[in-house]
Amino acid sequence: MVSPKARDLKPFIAMDVMERAHQMEGEGTDIVHLEVGEPDFKTPSCVVDAAIEALREGKTHYTDSLGLAELREAVAADTRMRTGVDVDPGRVVITSGSSPALLLLFASLIEPGNEVILPDPHYACYPNFIRFFDGVPVTVPVREEEGFQLDPGAVRARITARTRAILINSPANPTGAVLSADRIQAIASLGLPIISDEIYHGLVYEGEAHSALAFSEDAYILNGFSKLYAMTGWRLGYVIVPPSILRTVQKLQQNFFISANSFVQWGGVAALQKAGGDVARMRETYARRRPVLVEGLRRLGFGIAVPPTGAFYVFANAQRFGADSYRLAFDLLDRARVGVTPGVDFGSGGEGFLRFSYATSEERIREGLRRIARYLDTVGAS
Ligand code: PMP
Repeated sequence: MVSPKARDLKPFIAMDVMERAHQMEGEGTDIVHLEVGEPDFKTPSCVVDAAIEALREGKTHYTDSLGLAELREAVAADTRMRTGVDVDPGRVVITSGSSPALLLLFASLIEPGNEVILPDPHYACYPNFIRFFDGVPVTVPVREEEGFQLDPGAVRARITARTRAILINSPANPTGAVLSADRIQAIASLGLPIISDEIYHGLVYEGEAHSALAFSEDAYILNGFSKLYAMTGWRLGYVIVPPSILRTVQKLQQNFFISANSFVQWGGVAALQKAGGDVARMRETYARRRPVLVEGLRRLGFGIAVPPTGAFYVFANAQRFGADSYRLAFDLLDRARVGVTPGVDFGSGGEGFLRFSYATSEERIREGLRRIARYLDTVGAS
């Protein structure tokens, strides 16, 4: 009854784990959530206030399909401040999260048989989107010994006449790796369109994140409010596109989504203009949690060759506890009452790993580590 494409779409296992965890909580079980890719913080109050005010003022109508002019200008100003690159607000398209932005981009770019090069492991949904548009994901392994850094030479080796774009993500989900300026520049100089998912920009604890925009005027830049501003449930993101495809993206947006939510966009304006202090506080908190999780996992015997420096994830080698990350993750949920995401969710290169998120309190991270220690003792693996 369903289309083969929809039938064959893979589930997003991180969401499957979270939904199962919520079900267990509904039955009265206490779960430590280390699986979720979302901040535990409440959205900054200046953002909430702006959205409420917008609602009260009756800003409840469709907006321009490309987004509110005020938000597109605020995105351009924020991009200029962070990257030093002048962006015409006319190239900014506001979307209901960066997931719809990805959808619009792939729908605009991919012809059947086109290849998109991406790292493995990678954000779970990328290849699913690419396949949905009859494209072919072509993966380049990134290795734990190298801190999961994408090697421009390895990317070059995968280019064919069918390559449509190169997809990069720094800071990365699930590895927390941050790409150096040199590497991004080398990848940008390969002469193919770059799609750069920069949703974790601003969440870096050592060094800094660089935007592909600084190296390629024509890069497609994805970003959103979910992570940095703790706004996952608001569903707000954007994409900066080259002028040549703007009209195409606009037509797709008009048809698929009409526009992003209007009062939510007003919240987005406040986030960019007023929430800097809140963001700094959240980042400091993540920075304190990161070593707690990294060192705790290492003590338990998980492999972390190079500590991650961005996002809020630790991608830990769990091979000594069993090669099947899916089974291990669901066993940890059922028996240790700790939610983690199996590495295989992020590509075959992630098999044998587990992704742990530190977007949860230090106290809960410590409790999760204690529960995992007890579990490993019970199964005789410690
Ligand atoms: N890209 C990456 C790398 C992500 O981790 C996520 C969320 N987990 C998204 C995109 C989608 O985020 P949203 O749709 O909430 O903006």
